[in-house]
Amino acid sequence: MKRIVIIGSGTAGINLALNLRQNGFAGNVTVFGTEHHDPYQRPPLSKNWLLSDNDPSPIPLRPASALEENEIVLRLGQEVALIDRKRAVIVTETGEEIPYDRLVFATGAAPRRLDVPGADLKGVFYLRSLDDAAALRRAMRDNLSAEAVVVGAGVIGLEVASAFTTLNRPVTVVEAGARVLARVASVSVAAQVTQRLEKAGIHFLFEKAVARIEGESGSVKALELADGTRLPAQLVIIGIGAVPQESLALKAGLTCDDGILVDEEMRTSDEHIYAIGDCARGPNEFARGKVRIETIHNAMHQAKLAAASLCDKPAPAPAVPRFWSDLAGMKLQGLGIRSDSEVIEEQHGESEDAGEYHHFENGQLVATETINLPMRQNEFASLIVSRARTDTE
Ligand code: NAP
Repeated sequence: MKRIVIIGSGTAGINLALNLRQNGFAGNVTVFGTEHHDPYQRPPLSKNWLLSDNDPSPIPLRPASALEENEIVLRLGQEVALIDRKRAVIVTETGEEIPYDRLVFATGAAPRRLDVPGADLKGVFYLRSLDDAAALRRAMRDNLSAEAVVVGAGVIGLEVASAFTTLNRPVTVVEAGARVLARVASVSVAAQVTQRLEKAGIHFLFEKAVARIEGESGSVKALELADGTRLPAQLVIIGIGAVPQESLALKAGLTCDDGILVDEEMRTSDEHIYAIGDCARGPNEFARGKVRIETIHNAMHQAKLAAASLCDKPAPAPAVPRFWSDLAGMKLQGLGIRSDSEVIEEQHGESEDAGEYHHFENGQLVATETINLPMRQNEFASLIVSRARTDTE
């Protein structure tokens, strides 16, 4: 095995490239990325980045020297158009053919689009890439008195809304469901977060559907909800979820179902092709069935799993899934995977601002959620790994 090609230059792809070297792989490693920027960290883009007065620089994912020293070939701004599995070659959009011995999809996820009239007006933003964040930041600065509406009360929606309140600017969040953070937080934590964000100045509208976005001279002017409510807005930010980028894999005939399906070593239905990160769905030590976990931590862990498998090395120790978000002065962190049949114990944290929530299943700790308790994460992760039992058992 001499040539490994990785499609995707985000956290999963770049970490895999470096992990391959750490595991002793001496062959060619080529990473393709559609964006022109050197690989950068995404998490700050929806947080501090939006608050910065000066044009902020992206934070590199790894120092450029690390990629150079490890002889990783970066092919940025180049899209892979096709995979010919029979000949084991990828074909770029310019028709160049590159052979591989093993191929890895690290193609990530893309923002789900809001399908309503007016969604393409000027002043409507999504947030995933550096260019998206730069455009939103510019628009926020260019019109300091703009009325802002965020659609979706998930992580993107709440982080962007928090940025507005930190800048002392009013913002309304319109959510289709009944609560915030339905994908990543429990009902109890969501209630706490909502209460605190309302105090910080965010106005929430739950169980509301957007009917259309009204424009004037090509720019957004207002948002109209299905119940007839009209919300004046010159800035609309949409954060209604992410969809796995699997079309290339589907075209290549790989099995996909809300993500490219993989086994515990991250191998797809073709044993020469792997998939990792937001685009992959597979088993996880801490979950039932196959899951697709959209976090940085998961991308890094799956990069380790795939590197170990590709280099014939023992698999790394299981890693408890981790999530974090910074919301108007709150550090929200989650560990493990919750299911429906959980019992929640709420405990008071170390200060008034802090809180911890423990999730048990059949008497065993399966997940924790905390507010402003960053120093406790490793302790809780160990308890989850050992499936700690409750006192009452
Ligand atoms: P998300 O966390 O899945 O939340 C999307 C929210 O939008 C859900 O509550 C969803 O409700 C709601 N929604 C869906 N359709 C809607 C509609 N038409 N109108 C109003 N609300 C609607 O997704 P996200 O916030 O867009 O984040 C996207 C990606 O960014 C994810 O991959 C995420 O991991 C990543 N990200 C992560 C972080 C972090 O980890 N801190 C920060 C920023 C971004 P339903 O559940 O009812 O559909």
